[in-house]
Amino acid sequence: MLLASRACVVTKMERKMEENIRDHETGSEAGGEDALVGNINKLLVTPPGYTGASRKGHLIFDACFESGNLGRVDYISEFEYDLFIRPDTCNPRFRVWFNFTVENVRETQRVIFNIVNFSKTKSLYRDGMSPVVKSTSRPKWQRLPAKNVYYYRCPDHRRNYVMSFAFCFDREDDVYQLAYCYPYTYSRLQHYLEGLERRNLAYLQREQLGLSVQQRRLDLLTITNPAHLQPEQEKKVVFLTARVHPGESPASFICQGVIDFLVSQHPVARVLRDHVVFKIVPMLNPDGVYLGNYRCSLMGFDLNRHWQDPSPWAHPTLHAVKQLIVQMNQDPKVSLEFYIDVHAHSTMMNGFMYGNVFEEEERVQRQAVFPRLLCHNAPDFSFTSTSFNRDVVKAGTGRRFLGGLLDDTSYCYTLEVSFYSYISAGSSAPVPYTEDSYMKLGRNVARTFLDYYRLNNLIDDNKPTSLSNSNLDGQSYRQGNGRNLDGEKGERRIHGNKEES
Ligand SMILES: [Zn+2]
Repeated sequence: MLLASRACVVTKMERKMEENIRDHETGSEAGGEDALVGNINKLLVTPPGYTGASRKGHLIFDACFESGNLGRVDYISEFEYDLFIRPDTCNPRFRVWFNFTVENVRETQRVIFNIVNFSKTKSLYRDGMSPVVKSTSRPKWQRLPAKNVYYYRCPDHRRNYVMSFAFCFDREDDVYQLAYCYPYTYSRLQHYLEGLERRNLAYLQREQLGLSVQQRRLDLLTITNPAHLQPEQEKKVVFLTARVHPGESPASFICQGVIDFLVSQHPVARVLRDHVVFKIVPMLNPDGVYLGNYRCSLMGFDLNRHWQDPSPWAHPTLHAVKQLIVQMNQDPKVSLEFYIDVHAHSTMMNGFMYGNVFEEEERVQRQAVFPRLLCHNAPDFSFTSTSFNRDVVKAGTGRRFLGGLLDDTSYCYTLEVSFYSYISAGSSAPVPYTEDSYMKLGRNVARTFLDYYRLNNLIDDNKPTSLSNSNLDGQSYRQGNGRNLDGEKGERRIHGNKEES
């Protein structure tokens, strides 16, 4: 994809700052933002005062589609447009996610897009992150070159942080789509789950746990050997949720990676299904995802601050998930061993975790086991970035609330992954995440449970969470081993704990 040079961007930026003629003193943009409640709909942008017929090169912007977000476009010049993110529904404080299309372009038309109303100040745009783009003839998402992206405080916009990027359209008939990160919509999830259901796998159940305010499905998957589904059977449960924050689309790729692995014929997946019940809620906030929000539900709630007292009418999906967890926790046959809530992070690199703080040193050590193992299995996961806290502001999060509810043999984490990139050990160059590498992190999360249960068993036979070792040491999953999940021979063994690799 052809893109304008850095020099070109700087010149335009400087010119713009010098001009500084816009009405930031009047605060009119604040009024504009307050009025931004809907996405633009096939908006044809022509020069002010232009009355003739529309021509190629008069850009048409659109965000009236699923997970779309663009609230307003201001024509600055033939080459430059100010773009406004449409704030989260009923919560104008959050303005991060954008996702829109541009068409009616002229071949070799060069433009600068300024995204002028971000609600965040710190951003990975400073570290090389860039928007993602695809077009009709090139349907695979790619990141724009970082050199075409600028992130700076702009005097034209009340010293707001502005992200500017240069872009050159190269095919007249293409529709271009630009987004904050790789979109993963509610419909995509539904298609994926329908495809899984059609496989009629004995060890996969899909149920509707509830409905969102706008009557979208709240899906729950149960993946396990069906023998565990008898009520009298004792069960170890791993509970995973994702997309409580709707703009954090990487969480869905991770979640799909986990599911793909667990339903596969991989020997490790089989062993895991034989020992553990996986309960997965892939999209905790389907309305927010559908609407193209960044942080909130339809009604403007950050659902990850309402775990203490979710309302069945205002937070129905959260309420349903919490009820299920509370009910499982009261079932003497169920040992709820892990709760992991998957998120994406807008300022940090790598994958990492947040956990809770405990008084007992022994519990602290036990809680660090899973992230340590994951670090060993996933080159993009950082144990050093993993941290344990008890911030007051996070008291309403799933991790904190469930950490207080569940007993000391349960571990609750937030799994975070960078919206941008990871830096592997021994390297300094950031590697931008792709849809595939997010999914791969999910597969690595899934297989780490095997290491966890084996290691746990090896270090302490008396621990209540330990598994019977009988099947785990059988030849069934060792054979064909020595290959990692990509089928390459590598030193990173499928089942290897620290001693083995
Ligand atoms: Zn989040």
